[in-house]
Amino acid sequence: CGVFGIFNHSEAANLTYLGLHALQHRGQESAGIVTSQEGTLHAVRKMGHVADVFVNGAFAQLPGRIAVGHVRYTTAGGSLPKNIQPLTAEYRHGSVALAHNGNLVNAEQLREELEHDGAIFSSQSDTEVILQLLARSREATFVERLCDALGRVQGAYSLVVVTEDKLLAVRDPHGFRPLVLGRLRNHPECYVVASETCAFDLIEADKVRDIAPGEILVIDHSGLRSVQLRRDNRRFCVFEHVYFARPDSVLDDLAVYEARIAMGEQLAREAPVEADLVVPVPDSGVVAALGFAKASKIPFEMGLIRNHYVGRTFIEPKDSIRHFGVKLKLNPVPQVLRGKRVVVVDDSLVRGTTSRKIVKMIRAAGASEVHLRISSPPVISPCYYGIDTPTRSELIASSHTPDEIARYLTADSLAYLTPEGLMKAVRGDSGTTYCDACFTGRYPLRFIPPPGRRQLR
Ligand code: SF4
Ligand code: MG
Repeated sequence: CGVFGIFNHSEAANLTYLGLHALQHRGQESAGIVTSQEGTLHAVRKMGHVADVFVNGAFAQLPGRIAVGHVRYTTAGGSLPKNIQPLTAEYRHGSVALAHNGNLVNAEQLREELEHDGAIFSSQSDTEVILQLLARSREATFVERLCDALGRVQGAYSLVVVTEDKLLAVRDPHGFRPLVLGRLRNHPECYVVASETCAFDLIEADKVRDIAPGEILVIDHSGLRSVQLRRDNRRFCVFEHVYFARPDSVLDDLAVYEARIAMGEQLAREAPVEADLVVPVPDSGVVAALGFAKASKIPFEMGLIRNHYVGRTFIEPKDSIRHFGVKLKLNPVPQVLRGKRVVVVDDSLVRGTTSRKIVKMIRAAGASEVHLRISSPPVISPCYYGIDTPTRSELIASSHTPDEIARYLTADSLAYLTPEGLMKAVRGDSGTTYCDACFTGRYPLRFIPPPGRRQLR
């Protein structure tokens, strides 16, 4: 998911709309904006893309100088209107709106406890647990109540919260998901927060800094102040750099573009191959393929063309759409591929279904050899922290060796980047340490299924 927030601007809703537009790649199922004006919250939330949700007169319904926005794709709870964020609530101390990127690992357990206690939930979203805990807290101030609530939840959460007079930005103690603070260039009194810096570029804001793991940043008319929740080992999601984030974003002080170039270069060193062309699987494989071409000195060509009117095939939750998706999205260029030994570079291999179709497509277009190179390690374990990887049984690398997978894909060869190579590629100057659980199975935080209930996925 993608989150955005803005404090103290007369066009708060409009700028949030632009911010969400830049974050659209992080979630395409639904979008929402909530504004706060004199103690009242105003909301527009619908299923669909940002450009389709905020049409005719939507901004007239969103007055106020504080706003929070969200683009969603499902990791917990169904793809349903009632789960659209930002969530809002009225409780005895006032109103609050909350947008969440991430996934709580003990939400189901907490929900059972709260329901047992008589709580009524209005969504299936794990995020609602935070609101329920907030409403029940006996602490005196909003920030104390929020700390209290967050003291009970575990997992990944980058949150943007809006009250009558405040904007808050929160990152979980591991800092799994990104969240950055910025400031409008022409209105330095106006602060913004977003999942990725690409949202700042669009609205002409400058990055101030990343929200720290375990930090609650409070923005109101008296300025900025920080409360430290607690701090755990920093575990920034390495998959953000591999695939999820936009390559023009800077995450935790590392440019995604540079990280992907480095992944491609490292891959070329680890798994060289004699070939005539390097061809990326657009868009997600493009930057790593450039890195591969640079390091291997093999010419780079766009042998596959992407139709940009189709969304991310993977993020569509339905299998039927996904299977149909590849042809809708990609078409080979025979003039480039005919008679050539081709290295195809993609960012990740998850189920293998897409890649198999791509390999066949490239061969059918006349390539004499097809070598697949993946700029991340085999995905062997599901993510519990907010990326919608499939269940373990669907992950082809969880039960097959690279050779077996190459045979299934009908590729002449297949190689992945090693976990060590990946870490080398993302080790910038920032000293960030990463979560790589989907590649290694080493989970920084255990998922806690409640007794008797199915695992939340
Ligand atoms: Fe990111 Fe993978 Fe960790 Fe999930 S398991 S947070 S996708 S690195
Ligand atoms: Mg892709």
